[in-house]
Amino acid sequence: MAVLSDRLKGIIGDRSAEALTKVFGATTVEDLLRHYPRRYVVRGEFSDISGLLEGDEVTVLAEIAAVKSRRANGRNILEVNVTDGSAVMSLTFFNQPWREKELKIGKTGMFAGKVGSFNGKRQLSHPDYQLIPDGDDVDSALAAFAGKYLPVYPAGGKMPSWKISQCVELVLDSLDEVEDYLPESVIKELGYPTLKQALISIHKPESLEAADLARLRLTFDEAILLQLLLAGRRAEIKALDATPRKISTNGLVSVFESNLPFKYTSGQIEVNSEIAEDMQKPHPMHRLLQGEVGSGKTVIALRAMLSVIESGGQAALLAPTEVLATQHLKTITKLLGDLAQAGTLQGSGEGTQLALLTGSMSAAQKREALGKISNGEAGIVIGTHALISEGVEFRDLALVVVDEQHRFGVEQRDALRMKAAKPPHLLVMTATPIPRTVAMTIFGDLDVSTLRQLPSGRIPIETHVIPVLEKPHFLERAWERVKEEVGKGRQVYIVAPRISEGESDETKVKISEADIAMAKLMGDEITSDELSGGEKMTSVEELAPKLATGALKGLKLAPLHGRQSSDVKDETMSAFAQGEIDVLVATTVIEVGVDVPNASMMVIMDADRFGVSQLHQLRGRVGRGGTPGLCLLVSGAVPESTAMARLTAVAGTLDGFELSRIDLDQRREGDVLGRAQSGTKSHLRLLRVLRDEALIEEARRVANELVSSDSKLAKHPALAAQVSLLKEEERSAFLDKG
Ligand code: ADP
Ligand code: MG
Repeated sequence: MAVLSDRLKGIIGDRSAEALTKVFGATTVEDLLRHYPRRYVVRGEFSDISGLLEGDEVTVLAEIAAVKSRRANGRNILEVNVTDGSAVMSLTFFNQPWREKELKIGKTGMFAGKVGSFNGKRQLSHPDYQLIPDGDDVDSALAAFAGKYLPVYPAGGKMPSWKISQCVELVLDSLDEVEDYLPESVIKELGYPTLKQALISIHKPESLEAADLARLRLTFDEAILLQLLLAGRRAEIKALDATPRKISTNGLVSVFESNLPFKYTSGQIEVNSEIAEDMQKPHPMHRLLQGEVGSGKTVIALRAMLSVIESGGQAALLAPTEVLATQHLKTITKLLGDLAQAGTLQGSGEGTQLALLTGSMSAAQKREALGKISNGEAGIVIGTHALISEGVEFRDLALVVVDEQHRFGVEQRDALRMKAAKPPHLLVMTATPIPRTVAMTIFGDLDVSTLRQLPSGRIPIETHVIPVLEKPHFLERAWERVKEEVGKGRQVYIVAPRISEGESDETKVKISEADIAMAKLMGDEITSDELSGGEKMTSVEELAPKLATGALKGLKLAPLHGRQSSDVKDETMSAFAQGEIDVLVATTVIEVGVDVPNASMMVIMDADRFGVSQLHQLRGRVGRGGTPGLCLLVSGAVPESTAMARLTAVAGTLDGFELSRIDLDQRREGDVLGRAQSGTKSHLRLLRVLRDEALIEEARRVANELVSSDSKLAKHPALAAQVSLLKEEERSAFLDKG
């Protein structure tokens, strides 16, 4: 009899075991049983091809009549014609050339999917299928499949679905008792099957309802393990000691506030007090502040920073790019006024000093900054990754603010926190709105504050799509519009997806850690290539001179991108901020935080190359100065394509939460075609953050109940062991990313 940790070899035969290892990385009984079927083919319920209607979900029993493989637009397209005697239907597979090896003329199989049409012909795109093994006649082969519901597995290379099915049967036949790590009370309360029953039912269901219930239980398992992991992390943080930082009634914060040129919005007031309350506690604050671009996060962060300076502490503000760090320095210096000049003649007695630390500063500049950081003169230290480096020592680091969280890894966050004697308070800010359950899963160790409202006086940005395939003359109109805008004394950003012609990696849409984590939770493997295709894209170095001598002749244009030296970048940015440049032709270096109120228009070239949230982020750069903002999304995407739909969605709403949902949904769609076939051993296979919201909420409740009286899960060692496995897996995933 076999247990879950037994090796497959010896149970299913060496050849099959080796193939499973090679194709899916599966080595144990558990690995194989965790390779769940994608769907079930119902035996005896086959449809006639001649009677199929578009949109039907069908399974047909048919013979392969023709196989053709070709390339188009850099993609491999495999087209397979099948017939059941009544009619012919075509099956299409993109970028899965290996399927040609198993889909041979003359073979019979069951093909399942949704009927679509292409050029008037009925077709199934990426159908699931189960081929009848060679040499078996169809009837006896069908009879040999054990149940009425035949599982269809994600297959790969040497491991077609039916072969996986056979291996699973063998394993299930010899399966011993399975220890269930979920507490019996939880299983009872939720009406779930036991782990063993669930593993049997998901592979060999008695009914589709039984399969659904099994899948629900196994999905819940993933959700609760994740929630337990996060609950553990929250408990660890709560157990740490931090210095409480209390705001006094007539200290730096109140002087600062009395000089502030505007009134806080009610949202800002609320978040300010959440933060103040956290930081008064003897445990570190661990808070995520999410708020739309322009919602006024900076002033909240600054207030928090000043509050620690009151009691002699220092604050570090970590920015993802040099441009942004410099920008923050300017904004904060301006907001502080005299308060930023402590110790100098014009300065006020009760202020502080600011220090900037970035990688490209000269050695002398760095030395000066490091001095002020270590002797405590600099109360506010702003910088990029350079802040994390070895040589940086703080006198008393009390608060770490991370701007645009998703560009930083957990390790980097932690590395900076290590520079404090006691764990500092942590405030993480993001402008990417995150749906609640996503926040609960990915940032589940952080408390969340949300700014929903923009400071009043902000005029909404108008966004339009320029579909250059259909309406090429719209682009000329766009350039006219740029000239009009500049004519009115305003400034314009033009954004291109890459720096130079033919160059690939560097400017590719950056995939953030949060994106990757989200994608993983959604069973996705996203790569930069999926967001930005490999084909020709507009580049800054090509576009800037072309416009300067063509459509935008006479205007003052300047390029800005990540490969320029930081001197050039700084000069360009400040010239633009001072209105000496009319049009900035830039890559996404301007994506976050850049704040030039006089910029009122943005043209995004090849807009389909950017993610939904990224486009939203980018357009937030305009319309910040009380003038209406305009954003044009230029795209050569095919009308009716998903890329076009995405752009239309961005143009259609300014609601960041709505857009981040669309973003997540779309990536999942993309996954259906693009998913890597080689399996990973992830513990998170079934869970989908958007679809499973209710389940995640429930898992969180159960997890909190379990740890509230038993924080180390001492009463549930099997469950605790599963949580550590997940923790281990997560750690190595982060390490892999470097
Ligand atoms: P975010 O970082 O959230 O994108 P910022 O902090 O850069 O937004 O704020 C955008 C602009 O709004 C800044 O110019 C800031 O000074 C201004 N601002 C912030 N809070 C208010 C407020 N309560 N009333 C008016 N303007 C505000
Ligand atoms: Mg900001």
